[in-house]
Amino acid sequence: MSDIVNYELRGPVAVLSMNKGPVNGLGAALRTAIADAVDRANADPAVQAIVLTGTPRAFSAGADITEFGTPNASREPNLRVVIDQIEGGAKPVVAAIAGQCLGGGLELALGCHFRVALPDAQLGFPEVKIGLLPGGGGTQRMPRLIGLEPAVNMVTLGNPAPAKSFAGTPLIDRVADGDVVAAAVAFAQELIAAKTPPRRTRALSVSHPQGESFLQFARNSVAQQAKGQIAPMKALEAVAASLTKSFDEGMRVEREGFMSLMASPESRALRHIFKAEHAASKIADLPAGTPLREIRKVGVIGAGTMGGGITMNFLNAGIPVVLLEMKQEALDKGLATIRRNYENSMKKGKLKPEQVEQRMGLITGTLSYADLSDVDLVIEAVFENMDVKKTVFETLDKTCKAGAILASNTSYLNLDRIASFTKRPTDVIGLHFFSPANVMRLLEIVRGAQTAPDVLATCMALAKKIKKIAVVSGVCDGFIGNRMLARYGAAAGALINAGALPQQIDGALQKFGMAMGPYRMGDLAGLDIGYATRKRKAAEAGVPLRPSVADKLAEAGRLGQKTGAGWYRYEAGNRDPIPDPATEALIAEFRSAQGITPRAISDEEVVERCIFALVNEGARILEEGIAARASDLDVVYLNGYGFPRLRGGPMLYADMVGLPNVVRSLRRFAAEPGADPAWQPAPLLVRLAEAGKSFD
Ligand code: NAD
Repeated sequence: MSDIVNYELRGPVAVLSMNKGPVNGLGAALRTAIADAVDRANADPAVQAIVLTGTPRAFSAGADITEFGTPNASREPNLRVVIDQIEGGAKPVVAAIAGQCLGGGLELALGCHFRVALPDAQLGFPEVKIGLLPGGGGTQRMPRLIGLEPAVNMVTLGNPAPAKSFAGTPLIDRVADGDVVAAAVAFAQELIAAKTPPRRTRALSVSHPQGESFLQFARNSVAQQAKGQIAPMKALEAVAASLTKSFDEGMRVEREGFMSLMASPESRALRHIFKAEHAASKIADLPAGTPLREIRKVGVIGAGTMGGGITMNFLNAGIPVVLLEMKQEALDKGLATIRRNYENSMKKGKLKPEQVEQRMGLITGTLSYADLSDVDLVIEAVFENMDVKKTVFETLDKTCKAGAILASNTSYLNLDRIASFTKRPTDVIGLHFFSPANVMRLLEIVRGAQTAPDVLATCMALAKKIKKIAVVSGVCDGFIGNRMLARYGAAAGALINAGALPQQIDGALQKFGMAMGPYRMGDLAGLDIGYATRKRKAAEAGVPLRPSVADKLAEAGRLGQKTGAGWYRYEAGNRDPIPDPATEALIAEFRSAQGITPRAISDEEVVERCIFALVNEGARILEEGIAARASDLDVVYLNGYGFPRLRGGPMLYADMVGLPNVVRSLRRFAAEPGADPAWQPAPLLVRLAEAGKSFD
């Protein structure tokens, strides 16, 4: 007998306990072990009823997603077979549910004849979140247990709910406090005493007083919420079949929907993201069990756009912050912005008044470095200027206690140089937040040449605590995200020079799915930022600044939303970009000064050039070892730059287009007269394409 399903007799009740991995993922080994244990209990004359249970952490969190696409995924017995075996058995089976009971795990529980659960056990069908639908009978059994409407919500939204919210429905026969297995055994004893036969969910029927009109309403609202995703619609149609078709026919509809989704690019992308976000937290050369430094108090330098948002992350996690500014006025302004943000959340009902006060109570504003002497971590978010950073880090080195982690939020500057301003470069790290820092989920963790392993491990753990998705980057200009962004911006800029307008480029990329095109984004961030970066880079490289429309706009004082005009113009109090003839005139003037005759540019060309520019730079970043894996670049782009989730990130997109096709296009761009040398395909990209391999 397998040790991943324990078999124990409690009087006439066989207790089968699944214990595989952290959450009982239903891989081939566990499915086989369940089937064997159920066979044994059904064949054992001493057994009159069966309890199937998991661990306190999880009954089962569902399919083992690491098996998807491998032979194990389809290895028999498949999940539907195991569920049918349980449901078809002659002895009553009671599921005893604690912790997570999700996806295939919930379907397994629905195959049991009765269910006993702890009140806070989490029940749900998260499949739509990875572009799938429940494929183990969930769409047919759930409406039979809780009714059509709640089942539609559960399957199409994918949000879990506590078991206690289903008390009184045949989904949860008994809510138990304390020992759920003991409660399920007692329930089974009652079934035996009353000679209650198995209650098979498949034999129940679904009814709804206005079934068809409800479904029509649901189709409209799901289509609206799904925003172009197909999985929620297919999931809805599968549940709809439970109303009008027999159980077996409904199962066929579910099966067809599942198979077509499994083969869809949408599900491939969403499954890729799911795995990529898990993988990003793994650092190959960081020994397991690296000790962590304790972070009880944090310092933040600079109460501007970023410093304020960064501070809020820690207050939200209950960690006190000392916020340091140069002048009282700047400090007061920063503190007032934080308070206003919290008060806005309060007005929306997301925070209670006492929570606002509790969070504000965790901040100490100061103008004195002496107040940073006892912080465990300090994050610098002052002006993006090496001389300013130098002064700050030299002062931190003198004032912070031994063992304090010294972090910079710099967007582009060389972290190793920043570390060299201190006598403790091993304690220095980059913590690159994204704006607005209290909202955006991405955190690029920049590992310097000398950053100590425990400093890195501590920051990874801290990222989780403040609910960020962390990706590790090596040191280079702009790290992963902004380095790729620079190439994307350059590709878009070349298109403007050649004949496109900002509104066309933004429109084409937004149609592709980007949350915001590069010119709307530029106006939001401020055109002075890119201008300063380009000037710095040209100076560092000792070359003259390449003339560009972007610089002409900045020089004309058109800095974006904050000045009422940039690439677009803005009306007072309104952030909607309005195409501006003045920009068009400036572009036309620029072209004629450069001797460029504008040509027509299609939306397809815009997408091809801008996205392939990201891919090509991404390949260079990988080759240089700045990022550990291609999927890390996808995680950065999805969570920090508004890349469409349904496309899985730029590197997966390149895989889907086919790397040889990407290389062919890049070669074509590189061969154009006067082409930017950056269009030369990255050697890694060429090698993968020639070997028939992909990034994934
Ligand atoms: P900001 O101008 O809004 O804020 C900077 C703040 O630092 C100001 O309030 C200023 O008074 C204060 N400051 C300057 N020198 C100081 C010193 N010596 N001591 C104490 N305070 C000082 O700038 P920001 O947009 O918040 O950017 C800060 C840093 O974050 C920069 O390195 C920037 O590259 C980086 N960053 C910015 C963004 C963004 O989108 N704005 C995103 C990621 C990272």
